[in-house]
Amino acid sequence: MATMECSPCQSKKKPLVRRTDKDVSQLLRRWAQAIFLILNLWIGVQFFFFVRQFESGVGSGWTRPAGVEGWLPIAGMMNSKYLFLTGEIPAIHPAAMFLFLIFVGLSLLLRKAFCGWLCPVGTVSEYLWKFGRSTFRRNWRLPRWADIPLRGLKYLVLGFFVYAVGFMSAESIAAFLRSPYGIVADVRMLNFFRYLTGTAAIVLAVLLIGSVFVRNLWCRYLCPYGALMGLAALASPLRIKRNPERCIDCAKCAKACPSHLPVDTLIQIRSAECIGCMECIAVCPADYALGLSIPGAKPRYLHPRAVAAVIAIVFFGVVGYAKLSGHWESPIPDIMYQRLIPIAAEVGHP
Ligand code: SF4
Ligand code: SF4
Repeated sequence: MATMECSPCQSKKKPLVRRTDKDVSQLLRRWAQAIFLILNLWIGVQFFFFVRQFESGVGSGWTRPAGVEGWLPIAGMMNSKYLFLTGEIPAIHPAAMFLFLIFVGLSLLLRKAFCGWLCPVGTVSEYLWKFGRSTFRRNWRLPRWADIPLRGLKYLVLGFFVYAVGFMSAESIAAFLRSPYGIVADVRMLNFFRYLTGTAAIVLAVLLIGSVFVRNLWCRYLCPYGALMGLAALASPLRIKRNPERCIDCAKCAKACPSHLPVDTLIQIRSAECIGCMECIAVCPADYALGLSIPGAKPRYLHPRAVAAVIAIVFFGVVGYAKLSGHWESPIPDIMYQRLIPIAAEVGHP
């Protein structure tokens, strides 16, 4: 990507030249991924010690990080519906809603930028397939007859959750999230990973090992969150666009694309699988041949710094608003956690 905004339609008379400017998209993206991964690890550590103090009965002063609710996307979906139906910010797990709306909002603005720039699962997945590629000099791709139906799996899982939440009224959403099960949903999530069952451990191991060989195995085939982001991204005004006047048909973009999109043969990428990672742009050797295009009569490419800035402004802006307005933390007293955390495994679904 050029270091300045360019106008592909006006650049027809320019000669085709090798690109000499340095692309910063991948540097910025790796920083965003690293910061978000570290943030999630820190939240995990805080939450673990918060839970442990109630399990052991020895208070250690750890407070619950509300950001853990980013791992409760179904609660986020429920609370977003509650906000839509009542106009009120829900009391329990409001952070789940704010984070859910941030990630959907980013997808509406910048394709699946959440998947490509922020999601810690996507980051780990990316490092696994890149490790596989550097070790075995290649990644494997499922045959088309398997790839297409398997990609539909994540939409099926998403459809199940949308169906379940779609039938809930505002009252039933509030009752569910105020129930003991709703309150300790995050503790149950932690326990799932702490006390993996044999089956879960095998599935996790298969996914981890498979991700070394197949690019973004979990994200491409199974992640319902990614499926939702992909559907939201279809409405995004931004998309990767190729200028055939400038393109030298080297196919480097298609080879680099983690979503196996035929970037080199299309004029624009509309696919719900595009994660907005800009890897295709980073490897493109031709000036002004490829970019994340802003719509308009005079098409312009968005600079990677602008993408990073929008992500930061939306994320910190919304989280800041939620914190400053007192809608970030769930007002659950410690006495409730004292009662529920030790029995979280037995708390039944309401
Ligand atoms: S088309 Fe480009 S931005 Fe989209 S997933 Fe492929 S490499 Fe990433
Ligand atoms: S990387 Fe893709 S867009 Fe860029 S010159 Fe090669 S084929 Fe064309």
